[in-house]
Amino acid sequence: MEDCIFCKIIKGEIPSEKVYEDDKVLCFKDIEPGAPVHVLIIPKKHIDSINDITEEDTKLIAYIYLIAKQIAVKLGIANKGYRIVTNCGKEGGQTVSHVHFHMLGGRTLKWPPG
Ligand code: 5GP
Ligand code: ZN
Repeated sequence: MEDCIFCKIIKGEIPSEKVYEDDKVLCFKDIEPGAPVHVLIIPKKHIDSINDITEEDTKLIAYIYLIAKQIAVKLGIANKGYRIVTNCGKEGGQTVSHVHFHMLGGRTLKWPPG
């Protein structure tokens, strides 16, 4: 996906503060943090949104949660608690069309979000 900023981050064409990387996923700090800990976990495979996930992606999405819990330990928020959220579409607040999982923590989070 040529114009996708997250694909460019994966390729290293746009710099990012990486927290974790392997062959399937990348995790990096959000450029506009909404909490003391705010990282984005993304699959290296370009998928536009949750609406575009297919059955072949189910292992990948589950894997993201497995990695997420490890990242939570690494960032020191596992025991205190954190939130993982994915925005989908315009009304869901999605601004980047490459599916991503926000991990937010480091403070008490309000519910429901705005
Ligand atoms: P969305 O609004 O689609 O749920 O989340 C997109 C997130 O990507 C936003 O929180 C935004 O701050 C973050 N973001 C957008 N562009 C960049 C960028 O170039 N680098 C980083 N690290 N984060 C970005
Ligand atoms: Zn992409």
